[in-house]
Amino acid sequence: MERIPRVAIVGAGPAGLFAAGLLARADADVAIDILDRLPTPFGLLRYGVAPDHASIKAVADKLADAFESPRVRFCGLVEIGTQVTPAELLGCYDAVVYAIGAALDRRLGIPGEELPGSRSAREFVSWYSGHPDAVAHELAHVTSAVVVGVGNVAVDVARILLKDPAELHATDMPDAVLAELQATNVRDVWLVGRRGPADAAFSTAELRELLGLDGLGVVYERGELPADTTGLDRRARNNVDAIAAALAEERPSPLRRLHLLFQHRPVAILGEGRVASVEFESTVDGSRFEVPADLVLRSIGYYGVPLPGVPFVDGRIPNVEGRVHDVDGTLRPGEYAVGWIKRGPVGLIGANKSDATETVRHLLEDLAVAPARPLGDPDELLAARGVRPSTLDDWRRIDDAEIGRGTLRGRERTKIEAWHDLLDLVFGR
Ligand SMILES: Cc1cc2nc3c(=O)[nH]c(=O)nc-3n(C[C@H](O)[C@H](O)[C@H](O)COP(=O)(O)OP(=O)(O)OC[C@H]3O[C@@H](n4cnc5c(N)ncnc54)[C@H](O)[C@@H]3O)c2cc1C
Repeated sequence: MERIPRVAIVGAGPAGLFAAGLLARADADVAIDILDRLPTPFGLLRYGVAPDHASIKAVADKLADAFESPRVRFCGLVEIGTQVTPAELLGCYDAVVYAIGAALDRRLGIPGEELPGSRSAREFVSWYSGHPDAVAHELAHVTSAVVVGVGNVAVDVARILLKDPAELHATDMPDAVLAELQATNVRDVWLVGRRGPADAAFSTAELRELLGLDGLGVVYERGELPADTTGLDRRARNNVDAIAAALAEERPSPLRRLHLLFQHRPVAILGEGRVASVEFESTVDGSRFEVPADLVLRSIGYYGVPLPGVPFVDGRIPNVEGRVHDVDGTLRPGEYAVGWIKRGPVGLIGANKSDATETVRHLLEDLAVAPARPLGDPDELLAARGVRPSTLDDWRRIDDAEIGRGTLRGRERTKIEAWHDLLDLVFGR
């Protein structure tokens, strides 16, 4: 191939950026365009990882290394699927890597799920993380909340609801979010799992952080903790031990309560015009009971969004070690997947690195033997669609503006959450 091969990476989240960094450091000369629908890189590291987990947010510095390479371009405000199709991209690049994550969530499928006050943890997280698409949450009336799910995301949202809002002041949450959380009067949060505490997916560190919140009382509802933890794996044993330790502690006059409800599932969300309570059923004996609630957040897993013309099975793009294939197993040359859209919505940020290594290895092997084919010009394609991509400099302007906002408030950063403010910073240049 005489010209430098061109690779498009769709999605500037951790997986896309790990892949870009690996490609940029590869021996082969490759030009890399990273396309994202947002003008801001980092995906769920920016819009998912909890704002009070600053040390994890610092991974952004490592991911940003990819941008240091002159071979890499960041093209924000480009949405693949709506503005440009994957097939059109393939006409302009030797290879396309889908790194679009999993932007939807699973539903409970029970009556009342659509009532105002019942939402997904994903929406709640997007809101407190300042995602420009997020719809505001009104929490002033909320005293009792139910969080359905026992993974780390469920623990994150329970913690944000139960934490003393003053402790959130140091985070990068947008001003309006902090003000809303400040106005809350949450007294009770129920964390609910279908199976027992030993089967919960949360990590012990996350659980301990939640159980250890200042002013928190912990209640174990409707059952007994397993007394014998022999035979459990280490994480399950540590989780059960952490709960037992919290229950054994004297915590007089707690300001807020965490109710742990295992071996139950919600069967209906009840209320006239908005959520008022949730009915639960025991998964052991089928007995039912109701819990008053003003807010219900389901946290039962994320789910991918299909791209037009790209195969999609059970929330993922079907692939073998990152090489995309059709539903019938036929490989689709030039198309690759990485991250949550490749593996499904599980795994911490670090897991995307080994995942990207695998995909990039196959991509480079294939590029080395791919027959040369004429390609269109991606910039012309975008211009023809009326798309004006934002650049890395535009992101740096947003970054500086957020740091500036934060400095005024005595914080490291305050997120800019409104589309119009982000676009002003991009196009006001
Ligand atoms: C609430 C939450 C909390 C988490 N907390 C932690 C934690 O504390 N520690 C940890 O290690 N991991 C955490 N994780 C996991 C971590 O965020 C994921 O492993 C990681 O973000 C997955 O990376 P990804 O690049 O596959 O997807 P994403 O991070 O979702 O990135 C996908 C990117 O693609 C872009 N995109 C999507 N569709 C399109 C399109 N059609 N066109 C153009 N661009 C598109 C999106 O804008 C986004 O930038 C958390 C996850 C969640 C949901």
